[in-house]
Amino acid sequence: MKRDRNVKIVATLGPASDDYKMIRALHEAGADVFRLNMSHGDHAEIKVRHEIIRKVEKDLNSTISILADLQGPKLRVGVFAKDDGENLEVGQSFRLDLDDTPGTSERVQLPHKEIFDALEPGAHLLVNDGKIKLRVKECGRDFADCEVTVAGQISNRKGVNVPDVVLPLAALSEKDLKDLEFVCELGVDWLALSFVQRAADVEQARKLANGRAAILSKIEKPSAVTAFDEILAVSDGIMVARGDLGVELPVQNVPPIQKQLIRKSRAAAKPVIVATQMLESMIESPMPTRAEVSDVATAIYEGADAIMLSAESAAGDFPIEAVTTMNNVAVEVEADPTYTQIIEASRKTSGRSVADGIVAAAREIAETADIKAICCYSQSGTTALLTVRERPRVPIIVMSSDIKTVRRLALSWGTNCVMTDKVVNRFKTAVLEAVRSALSTGVAEKSDLVVVTAGVPFNTPGSTNILRVAPCDENLILAATSE
Ligand code: PGA
Ligand code: MN
Repeated sequence: MKRDRNVKIVATLGPASDDYKMIRALHEAGADVFRLNMSHGDHAEIKVRHEIIRKVEKDLNSTISILADLQGPKLRVGVFAKDDGENLEVGQSFRLDLDDTPGTSERVQLPHKEIFDALEPGAHLLVNDGKIKLRVKECGRDFADCEVTVAGQISNRKGVNVPDVVLPLAALSEKDLKDLEFVCELGVDWLALSFVQRAADVEQARKLANGRAAILSKIEKPSAVTAFDEILAVSDGIMVARGDLGVELPVQNVPPIQKQLIRKSRAAAKPVIVATQMLESMIESPMPTRAEVSDVATAIYEGADAIMLSAESAAGDFPIEAVTTMNNVAVEVEADPTYTQIIEASRKTSGRSVADGIVAAAREIAETADIKAICCYSQSGTTALLTVRERPRVPIIVMSSDIKTVRRLALSWGTNCVMTDKVVNRFKTAVLEAVRSALSTGVAEKSDLVVVTAGVPFNTPGSTNILRVAPCDENLILAATSE
């Protein structure tokens, strides 16, 4: 579906958006990628949503990317004797242990042995989205005696964050392993990993996915921020997961981290999503706050590939309005000359390969002459990602006969993804496909010119070595006898 913007919109599906009519309307309103959150919904529900997305894709002859988000090792306290739990006061002592006896105002179970193995006196534990803060005074193999430093109500199965220590936890829980296999078999394009702590976590998921899905690392722990360069190197994409990040770190640290992660991901030619609370008030209101609009705009000015809706589209009262708001903000920001200036000033200089040279040249030519699009024949998607990194002023058309490449690339900034019928083995065929795609996506007309890039030999990743300026007229191309 042709959009009037480059940044992509990711919409999380949930109870507010689980039927055909709504999912189709969300795509038409601007959602390019749908996120299936494995923390909510059972396999049967996920399967139904997946089928609906693929049906919408087919019915509208569009390209839709599906991102499955694995829950990760979510830590929780046990249960309390009283239904509504206990109120913890500043200065009081509170013990966490492995005993499953219901909790009191003095103690509760924390059924994760790994935490006790890693805790040290002075470390902090955050409970219930960071609302309660505990500081460890003394700890052993099966207990931690803490002092309450921020008061609050603690109750059954509230989430626990342990920001100060790298936990010896498997990145993928038993549930994650089952979910991973399930969604890979269903056929998703992206797998998002929650609470990534180190590069090895990503490598483990990649092995299990075994090429069936691209791997996106959610950065939501201080340890992931510290190890970001290594994590980025082994990931296919990044999510700035501001929800948990803002619990594990002081909230004021989140904006500079967001800027840094976007800059580094862009330089590495890997898509980066900005997520969580972008239009939070729209869960209940048809109108966003000015601050939210500004937050969405900031992510776009920073050059993020995609912006994401969570509960706004999954469980809110105004899913379509939320997508429409993001779309409208994006169109307005991208029409601002300051946006172009910022994006171009923050462009990363290319690498040293032939493909790097070709994509830079394609952008130069397209922006110098009156060229309507850069058409990139990219079987594996490698060259398409380099083209995206250039952030050109003209639309990018990504062509591949591999449906996986086409769908994965739909998450990236500025792509119009087109599936080509057959495996291209002659450059002339690639040019013809490019011209047809430029015409069918509506970015060019018959009298226009496009830049086409491709690689010979065909179907060899990273082999891009040809650049051609072509008229959008099939007869003129067929008449040329040189190839
Ligand atoms: P979640 O991840 O919505 O799965 O928690 C995003 C975030 O933490 O921001
Ligand atoms: Mn999270």
